Amino acid sequence: MQYSILNSPRILASALFLFVFSLAPDRTCSQSNVVKLTPDVVEAGSPVLIHVEAGREATIDADWLGRKIQFFPARDGHSWFALAGVDVEAETGPSVLRVVVHSDSGSIDLSRTVEIHPAHYRTSSLSVPPKFVEPGPDELKQIEADVKVKAKVFGASAHEPLWSGNFRAPVTAQPTDSFGTRRMFNGKLASIHKGMDYRAAVGTPVRAGNRGVVVLARRLYYEGNCVIIDHGLGLWAISMHLSRIDVQEGQHVVTGGLLGLSGATGRVTGPHLHWAVRWQDAYLDPAKLLRLDLSGVR
Ligand SMILES: [Zn+2]
Repeated sequence: MQYSILNSPRILASALFLFVFSLAPDRTCSQSNVVKLTPDVVEAGSPVLIHVEAGREATIDADWLGRKIQFFPARDGHSWFALAGVDVEAETGPSVLRVVVHSDSGSIDLSRTVEIHPAHYRTSSLSVPPKFVEPGPDELKQIEADVKVKAKVFGASAHEPLWSGNFRAPVTAQPTDSFGTRRMFNGKLASIHKGMDYRAAVGTPVRAGNRGVVVLARRLYYEGNCVIIDHGLGLWAISMHLSRIDVQEGQHVVTGGLLGLSGATGRVTGPHLHWAVRWQDAYLDPAKLLRLDLSGVR
């Protein structure tokens, strides 16, 4: 009786082992356990909590998909966390999470391969007033001014995490699975929906999802009355289309603090709260952030 190579489980297992380890820059098996991701299955649009075992005296040099990752020390004194993520439009397939830990005893490369899985987002068509699809000269002027304001807001973030514990939903209203939906506006302009819509009636209290500082509280063309909270280390939460804003730029807010009332201002088809989560220039699925257990982190 003759076995072909593929019929031999042992050879197949060895081949698989070599294949996996030729993909991963890890030097040993144990190193991949030192960098832990939550969730361990990463999809396009996922926020990801990264845990690295390294002493308090260490410095960590890390980047992923072209974004630098900033770590903060864990309570235990011998590990570090970072709240990072993968943009909704990220290419799926293997990616390299580069992590190098520097300490007195030298540098250790803990880089690893992370598979980005596709998330199954929908496609939809909707109609909005024509001025939002073909803005006139006055509108274009405002849109241009808004772009500058937002670039400034997203150009700086607190140098430490301002959030504490789990994020909570910004409204008591029905969420929709609208994040990531490819949208056709009036059959023309295509865009990807980078937030989560809540079916909130006009006047529903909108609250801070976590601790942070208000870095924008004003009316913008598309966003309507908008509040942006900086949660630190490049993480922001954005609430749009409010009927009323109850906070001021520079104000510190606690989890659940009132930001304003939901409404139907800006480019909308009806009253709702659009809530977006941004890490650096990546848009993350708010529903996944709400499910992430951060209670023991800080
Ligand atoms: Zn929306």
